[in-house]
Amino acid sequence: MIKNVLGGLAAVLLTLALIVVARTLMVSYDLMEVDAVERHAFDADRATERLSEGLTYRTISHEAPEDFEAAEFEALLEFLERAYPRIYSELEFERVGDYTKLYRWEGSDPDLKPGMLIGHYDVVPVEPGTEQEWTHPPFSGTVAEGFVWGRGALDDKAGVLSSMEAVEYLLETGFTPQRTLYLAAHHDEEVGGFDGAARVSELLEERGVELEFLVDEGLPVAEEVLEGLETPIAMVGMAEKGFLNLELSIIRDGGHSSMPPQRTTIGDLSTAIHRVKDNPMPGRFDDLIKTTFEPLAPQLPFLYRMGLANLWLFRPLIERQLSTIPHTNAALRTTAAPTIIEGGIKANVLPAKARAIVNLRIHPDDDIEAVEAHVRSVINNDEIQVRRTPPSREPSVVSDTDTRPFQDLRRSIKEVFPGVPVAPSIFIATSDARHFRNLTDNIYRFRAIRARPEDQSRIHGTDERIGVENYLEMVQFQIRFIKNSTS
Ligand SMILES: [Zn+2]
Repeated sequence: MIKNVLGGLAAVLLTLALIVVARTLMVSYDLMEVDAVERHAFDADRATERLSEGLTYRTISHEAPEDFEAAEFEALLEFLERAYPRIYSELEFERVGDYTKLYRWEGSDPDLKPGMLIGHYDVVPVEPGTEQEWTHPPFSGTVAEGFVWGRGALDDKAGVLSSMEAVEYLLETGFTPQRTLYLAAHHDEEVGGFDGAARVSELLEERGVELEFLVDEGLPVAEEVLEGLETPIAMVGMAEKGFLNLELSIIRDGGHSSMPPQRTTIGDLSTAIHRVKDNPMPGRFDDLIKTTFEPLAPQLPFLYRMGLANLWLFRPLIERQLSTIPHTNAALRTTAAPTIIEGGIKANVLPAKARAIVNLRIHPDDDIEAVEAHVRSVINNDEIQVRRTPPSREPSVVSDTDTRPFQDLRRSIKEVFPGVPVAPSIFIATSDARHFRNLTDNIYRFRAIRARPEDQSRIHGTDERIGVENYLEMVQFQIRFIKNSTS
């Protein structure tokens, strides 16, 4: 009898294993193969020199407006005019806000909706006291050891200048777009973009412009993402998370700490924070994160591939695994982080009031309303007041992959980075693109920057730099994308 049961169990397990392996081997992936294209012969030295000079302007966005150095912004705008003479003689341009520049390259077909490339040339300050830690001074634009060094090399002067380089080159070669193309170089992204991007967006809306697509800074060509994955991955941000700050507060009679009651304000507040942490919003595996992994599958080690091909069986396991890593967890769900806690003024007095702020980053499948309701319900304590504190913002729509602009973007990436999978992903940070939701749903957040995990700390940190060869790839990419998307 026992033998029969075991035999039956073995047969079931064997069948299951066969199904799992068969599905792994049979699944086919939609991999776009593109023909090799010749590299465009723009002047590489000149492009590198111009990036180097661009990094010498101290176009810093400070938190305190009185620290703003207008002369540096003026100097950078003058530099652009000197560096890109064809753009300034053949395109329309205007100043928007205080120091933002908007360019319009008229296409030959007025029936096509315009495309738009945006970026920002303001940078974050160098943290006082860290200047000496830089291998080359942060505003020197030094070209050495195969890199261009300086604040803005990654975020985002290389983005702005590589698009201008591409347009200048295409003008030199006599290219005319069919689709009108806008370019914008914003000056205040690091402090919210309210004078730059927000005004450009308003202005275009007033003029009745609807965009076919918008490309902004965002995710990179990521190298060494997963163990066992040989190729880099070009990640494209298809959506941006929203955010919400909730204040949790509790008021109760205070008293002497020598005779504490069962429950105290600090005790209850701590419990509430714990409950929020221990009961996260559900993971959203079916959407963006799945589309991120699918294009990678053919290159993944067998075990990963087996998991992806058999989500019916392995989904809970994969979700649990992704939830343990901060950046995949952030892509998977709405996250909650307590950022401020206050209560108490004296060591022997029970505080009558305690409060905390929880900062929530909202996944595109959730919204502010649902997140707030979730937090209230997991806290499950009527004495804790839950209140929204501004600012808050809903998550963006998720841009479609099934559109001409996305296919153009994917093609252009593959033309410049052969064999590199393109993975639609979620952008965890925020950028100026959020100001353009009124003009198009096709917003893509991508820079052709090769980034290794250790480069993360260079963005807004010490020793920001970009490889010279990689910068030239960025220019190649911009040329390919402009050609593919406007003709
Ligand atoms: Zn940036």
